[in-house]
Amino acid sequence: MSTIPTGPLEETGYRLTAPRRAVLEAIAGATRPFTIEELSDRLPNIGRATVFRTIKLLHELDIVCRVPLEDGGIRYERSRSGHHHHHLICSECGSVTEFNDPALDEVIEQNATTASFELDGHSAELYGRCASCQAAS
Ligand SMILES: [Zn+2]
Ligand SMILES: [Zn+2]
Ligand SMILES: [Zn+2]
Repeated sequence: MSTIPTGPLEETGYRLTAPRRAVLEAIAGATRPFTIEELSDRLPNIGRATVFRTIKLLHELDIVCRVPLEDGGIRYERSRSGHHHHHLICSECGSVTEFNDPALDEVIEQNATTASFELDGHSAELYGRCASCQAAS
């Protein structure tokens, strides 16, 4: 079973409480991007509000990332890199691949500056078909 580094949580002064540990273990065991409802269903002893708050915290710490789907649904997954990144999302198999591009981030930040927009953050999702789905068709 894979484990999630809890360093970022403890380094920032958050205690690894039992519910947080349970949520982290459920995330580590997830094989696909999940909704908060799906995760919550796997944790019957933990209130949904606690699951929701924990995911929000883990997202802020870049332990978990938010994956907005093309149909408007929101899923979450364990961040592979643990740093800011973007997503390539396959609309056939649902696989999510991370990529990171500092040059792209810079262009996005420049656009915000040009528009006198105070930027809090950004995300970028690319939708299409992954290499194995293309090969299978
Ligand atoms: Zn991600
Ligand atoms: Zn695919
Ligand atoms: Zn970015």
